[in-house]
Amino acid sequence: MTSGGEVVVALDVGGTGMKCALVRPDGTTVHAERHATEAARGPEAVVGTILDVAEGLAGKARADGLAPVACGIAVPGVVDEARGVAVWSANVGFRDVPLRELAQTRLGLPAALGHDVRAGGLAEARLGAGRDASHVLFVAIGTGIAAAHVVDGSAATGAHGAAGEIGHILVRPDGPRCGCGRPGCLEAVASAAAIGRRYTGLAGSPASAADVAERAAAGETLAGQVWREAVEALADGLATGQALFDVSAMVIGGGLARAGSGLLDPLRAALRERLTFHREPRLVAAALGDEAGCLGAALLALDTLD
Ligand SMILES: [Zn+2]
Repeated sequence: MTSGGEVVVALDVGGTGMKCALVRPDGTTVHAERHATEAARGPEAVVGTILDVAEGLAGKARADGLAPVACGIAVPGVVDEARGVAVWSANVGFRDVPLRELAQTRLGLPAALGHDVRAGGLAEARLGAGRDASHVLFVAIGTGIAAAHVVDGSAATGAHGAAGEIGHILVRPDGPRCGCGRPGCLEAVASAAAIGRRYTGLAGSPASAADVAERAAAGETLAGQVWREAVEALADGLATGQALFDVSAMVIGGGLARAGSGLLDPLRAALRERLTFHREPRLVAAALGDEAGCLGAALLALDTLD
């Protein structure tokens, strides 16, 4: 191996796009590219694109005089990290795809498969906003809500690859029905999509969560009410998270975190109100933006070399 020139191939596959990179062992990205997932083509075509892109990146590394040493891939849905299988995904359509083995065979390199949010949490915990904490809960709030519990740089996967589904904590038993089929889940009340829906339903004109955040900050009464309801529900979810995990830092990412202090300040206060004997975690915004999942995939690749 050429010392100093080693890189890993990293891919973060989402429902609409793939973030891909060559990353050095110290976490620096030396090359990044994006591709469309085009999930409507079906899972087999998506797997084909993943393998083509990964092979192309390894080739690019060699052409640039670098040595690709491993590959990491992060995907959404239910992921069995131990077996390297993408078990199930609503938006990409994966059903028991042995993606790790497919990547190993195609690239001739060790490979790792991870869950997108757990990979993002891993990166935030090791390289980002949680890097000074050994017990971190990363919560991504976007179309849905999901979390990763990272202890000493390792994310818990659960027995069935489904740990961290904080979006499906029951917070409002008589609330709106969740995508999972049950009424009142946290993500049915407080995801960016849910906030937009709630405001749109009350105001009678379409608005996104970002619009609601902006209008609430500007003092609009209805937006303020909808925002407050979402913050209260999120605080209920995070308080449950703290009761279970007793972390020192909660890192908030995903699209809703772009509201910045308009989200974090009231959320911190509402969480504080709910804690009794539990210690209050440091509540901070994610630092790596939408690169987190790809960097996490790189970390998983590097971990295969230990
Ligand atoms: Zn649910």
